[in-house]
Amino acid sequence: MTDRAYELLERVASLLRAEQRRESGATGLEPVHLQALTYLALANRYSDTPQSVGEYLGLTKGNMSQRLLWLERHGYLKRSRDESDGRVVHLRLTDRARDALASLSPPRLWREAAGDTVRLGEELDGLLGRLLARGGYRAFGQCRTCRHHERVNGSPYCALIQVSLDPEQVDRLCREHEEPLPAA
Ligand code: SF4
Repeated sequence: MTDRAYELLERVASLLRAEQRRESGATGLEPVHLQALTYLALANRYSDTPQSVGEYLGLTKGNMSQRLLWLERHGYLKRSRDESDGRVVHLRLTDRARDALASLSPPRLWREAAGDTVRLGEELDGLLGRLLARGGYRAFGQCRTCRHHERVNGSPYCALIQVSLDPEQVDRLCREHEEPLPAA
Protein backbone atom coordinates (compact mmCIF):
# COMPACT_ATOMS: atom_id res chain seq x y z
CA MET A 1 0.00 0.00 0.00
CA THR A 2 1.33 3.45 -0.84
CA ASP A 3 1.69 6.09 1.84
CA ARG A 4 0.47 9.33 0.28
CA ALA A 5 1.98 11.59 2.98
CA TYR A 6 5.41 9.98 2.51
CA GLU A 7 5.21 10.32 -1.28
CA LEU A 8 4.23 13.98 -0.97
CA LEU A 9 7.02 14.81 1.47
CA GLU A 10 9.57 13.17 -0.84
CA ARG A 11 8.20 15.04 -3.85
CA VAL A 12 8.11 18.41 -2.08
CA ALA A 13 11.69 17.92 -0.80
CA SER A 14 12.97 17.03 -4.30
CA LEU A 15 11.17 19.96 -5.86
CA LEU A 16 12.57 22.42 -3.32
CA ARG A 17 16.12 21.11 -3.81
CA ALA A 18 15.75 21.47 -7.60
CA GLU A 19 14.44 25.00 -7.18
CA GLN A 20 17.30 25.95 -4.86
CA ARG A 21 19.75 24.73 -7.52
CA ARG A 22 17.96 26.77 -10.17
CA GLU A 23 17.77 29.95 -8.07
CA SER A 24 21.37 29.69 -6.84
CA GLY A 25 22.48 29.96 -10.49
CA ALA A 26 26.20 30.44 -11.00
CA THR A 27 27.09 30.70 -7.29
CA GLY A 28 27.75 26.95 -7.17
CA LEU A 29 25.82 26.67 -3.89
CA GLU A 30 24.12 23.31 -3.60
CA PRO A 31 21.18 22.45 -1.36
CA VAL A 32 23.47 20.65 1.09
CA HIS A 33 25.58 23.82 1.43
CA LEU A 34 22.45 25.80 2.23
CA GLN A 35 21.35 23.17 4.76
CA ALA A 36 24.72 23.43 6.52
CA LEU A 37 24.53 27.23 6.59
CA THR A 38 20.93 27.14 7.83
CA TYR A 39 21.93 24.84 10.67
CA LEU A 40 24.93 27.00 11.63
CA ALA A 41 22.75 30.12 11.67
CA LEU A 42 20.61 28.42 14.35
CA ALA A 43 23.25 26.49 16.35
CA ASN A 44 24.49 27.54 19.77
CA ARG A 45 28.17 27.90 20.70
CA TYR A 46 28.42 24.24 21.74
CA SER A 47 27.02 23.02 18.44
CA ASP A 48 28.65 25.15 15.71
CA THR A 49 31.41 22.60 15.08
CA PRO A 50 32.13 20.54 11.93
CA GLN A 51 31.15 17.33 13.77
CA SER A 52 27.77 18.77 14.75
CA VAL A 53 27.02 19.87 11.19
CA GLY A 54 27.72 16.33 9.99
CA GLU A 55 25.54 14.80 12.68
CA TYR A 56 22.68 17.18 12.01
CA LEU A 57 22.71 16.53 8.27
CA GLY A 58 23.46 12.80 8.59
CA LEU A 59 26.59 13.02 6.39
CA THR A 60 29.86 11.12 6.67
CA LYS A 61 32.88 12.93 8.06
CA GLY A 62 34.64 13.02 4.67
CA ASN A 63 31.62 14.31 2.79
CA MET A 64 30.96 17.00 5.40
CA SER A 65 34.61 18.12 5.44
CA GLN A 66 34.55 18.64 1.68
CA ARG A 67 31.33 20.66 1.87
CA LEU A 68 32.66 22.85 4.66
CA LEU A 69 35.96 23.42 2.85
CA TRP A 70 34.05 24.52 -0.24
CA LEU A 71 31.99 26.96 1.83
CA GLU A 72 35.13 28.35 3.46
CA ARG A 73 37.00 28.72 0.15
CA HIS A 74 34.06 30.59 -1.39
CA GLY A 75 33.71 33.04 1.49
CA TYR A 76 30.62 31.68 3.23
CA LEU A 77 32.27 30.38 6.43
CA LYS A 78 35.05 31.31 8.81
CA ARG A 79 36.74 29.01 11.31
CA SER A 80 37.87 30.12 14.75
CA ARG A 81 39.50 28.26 17.66
CA ASP A 82 37.65 28.02 20.95
CA GLU A 83 39.12 30.47 23.50
CA SER A 84 39.24 27.91 26.34
CA ASP A 85 39.90 24.70 24.33
CA GLY A 86 42.12 25.13 21.28
CA ARG A 87 41.13 21.69 19.94
CA VAL A 88 37.57 22.89 19.32
CA VAL A 89 36.79 24.69 16.05
CA HIS A 90 33.76 26.97 15.68
CA LEU A 91 32.23 27.77 12.29
CA ARG A 92 30.91 31.29 11.76
CA LEU A 93 28.72 32.54 8.92
CA THR A 94 29.98 35.49 6.89
CA ASP A 95 27.76 38.30 5.59
CA ARG A 96 27.88 36.56 2.22
CA ALA A 97 26.38 33.43 3.80
CA ARG A 98 23.62 35.42 5.50
CA ASP A 99 22.76 37.11 2.19
CA ALA A 100 22.62 33.71 0.46
CA LEU A 101 20.29 32.29 3.12
CA ALA A 102 18.03 35.34 2.94
CA SER A 103 17.48 34.84 -0.79
CA LEU A 104 17.68 31.04 -1.19
CA SER A 105 16.47 29.38 2.00
CA PRO A 106 13.60 28.97 1.57
CA PRO A 107 13.69 29.48 -2.22
CA ARG A 108 11.54 32.22 -3.75
CA LEU A 109 9.12 29.63 -5.14
CA TRP A 110 8.23 28.48 -1.61
CA ARG A 111 7.68 32.04 -0.40
CA GLU A 112 5.39 32.76 -3.34
CA ALA A 113 3.38 29.52 -3.36
CA ALA A 114 3.33 27.89 0.09
CA GLY A 115 0.78 30.18 1.77
CA ASP A 116 0.01 29.81 5.50
CA THR A 117 2.15 26.92 6.79
CA VAL A 118 1.68 27.32 10.56
CA ARG A 119 -0.50 24.22 11.04
CA LEU A 120 1.55 22.16 8.63
CA GLY A 121 4.69 23.18 10.52
CA GLU A 122 3.19 22.00 13.82
CA GLU A 123 2.25 18.62 12.36
CA LEU A 124 5.68 18.14 10.76
CA ASP A 125 7.33 19.13 14.04
CA GLY A 126 5.52 16.26 15.78
CA LEU A 127 6.38 13.84 12.97
CA LEU A 128 10.05 14.81 13.05
CA GLY A 129 10.18 14.33 16.83
CA ARG A 130 8.75 10.81 16.51
CA LEU A 131 11.19 9.90 13.73
CA LEU A 132 14.20 11.20 15.67
CA ALA A 133 13.19 9.40 18.86
CA ARG A 134 12.41 6.12 17.09
CA GLY A 135 15.65 6.24 15.07
CA GLY A 136 17.79 7.12 18.09
CA TYR A 137 19.04 10.38 16.55
CA ARG A 138 20.06 13.49 18.42
CA ALA A 139 17.12 15.90 18.54
CA PHE A 140 19.14 19.17 18.23
CA GLY A 141 16.36 20.96 20.11
CA GLN A 142 16.09 24.56 21.18
CA CYS A 143 18.05 25.28 24.37
CA ARG A 144 15.15 26.85 26.32
CA THR A 145 13.17 23.57 26.03
CA CYS A 146 15.98 21.32 27.37
CA ARG A 147 15.76 19.40 30.64
CA HIS A 148 19.13 20.88 31.68
CA HIS A 149 18.01 24.47 31.14
CA GLU A 150 17.68 26.32 34.47
CA ARG A 151 17.60 29.86 35.77
CA VAL A 152 20.22 30.86 38.35
CA ASN A 153 19.98 34.33 39.88
CA GLY A 154 17.53 35.22 37.12
CA SER A 155 19.88 34.25 34.27
CA PRO A 156 19.86 31.19 32.00
CA TYR A 157 22.13 28.36 33.13
CA CYS A 158 23.08 24.94 31.72
CA ALA A 159 23.08 22.30 34.46
CA LEU A 160 24.76 19.75 32.15
CA ILE A 161 27.86 21.77 31.24
CA GLN A 162 27.51 23.91 34.39
CA VAL A 163 27.96 27.28 32.73
CA SER A 164 25.90 30.46 32.52
CA LEU A 165 24.31 30.94 29.10
CA ASP A 166 24.15 34.13 27.07
CA PRO A 167 20.45 35.08 26.84
CA GLU A 168 20.79 35.24 23.03
CA GLN A 169 21.90 31.56 23.00
CA VAL A 170 18.75 30.13 24.58
CA ASP A 171 16.71 30.20 21.37
CA ARG A 172 19.40 28.31 19.46
CA LEU A 173 19.83 24.61 18.67
CA CYS A 174 22.08 22.44 20.82
CA ARG A 175 23.53 19.00 20.06
CA GLU A 176 23.33 18.09 23.78
CA HIS A 177 19.64 18.97 24.05
CA GLU A 178 17.45 16.49 25.91
CA GLU A 179 13.69 16.50 26.20
CA PRO A 180 12.30 17.31 29.66
CA LEU A 181 11.54 14.25 31.80
CA PRO A 182 7.85 13.34 31.89
CA ALA A 183 5.98 14.62 34.95
CA ALA A 184 5.95 12.01 37.76
S1 SF4 B 1 20.63 23.57 28.64
FE1 SF4 B 1 20.54 21.81 27.24
S2 SF4 B 1 20.27 22.74 25.23
FE2 SF4 B 1 21.01 24.37 26.60
S3 SF4 B 1 23.25 24.36 26.40
FE3 SF4 B 1 22.74 22.98 28.12
S4 SF4 B 1 22.59 20.92 27.19
FE4 SF4 B 1 22.47 22.44 25.52
